[in-house]
Amino acid sequence: MLLKYHFIFTLIFCIFLFQFIQWWTIAVFFSGFFIDIDHYLYYILKKRNFNLKKAYQCETKPFGRDRLHIFHTIEFYTLIFGLAIFHNFFFFILIGLSFHQLIDIVDVIIFPYKRGWRTNSIYTWINRH
Ligand SMILES: [Zn+2]
Repeated sequence: MLLKYHFIFTLIFCIFLFQFIQWWTIAVFFSGFFIDIDHYLYYILKKRNFNLKKAYQCETKPFGRDRLHIFHTIEFYTLIFGLAIFHNFFFFILIGLSFHQLIDIVDVIIFPYKRGWRTNSIYTWINRH
């Protein structure tokens, strides 16, 4: 999903959440929106280039194959889940990440032809490369 839509949906979600969790919504918002920084990290790793504009254009192209977006993997979620047991901050980070992942999944269901394919696991990605 495009960043502007992530921003809008995450903001609406956080406005709704604010009445329940007050300032923890900041953690939810930042994790729900900035998780996509991994697209940029992958671009840097793959292209050896730090140009943010080119990275955005490249990552929004359809049909990219086997992309590793590290914050969208089961290993990262497992780590945050484990940390959430010990501290509230990570619990709210996990809520933001889960909301982000939910709208990514809805986007893929609605527009399957627009999206490339990314791995869900660092382990399986490493095994393929
Ligand atoms: Zn995403």
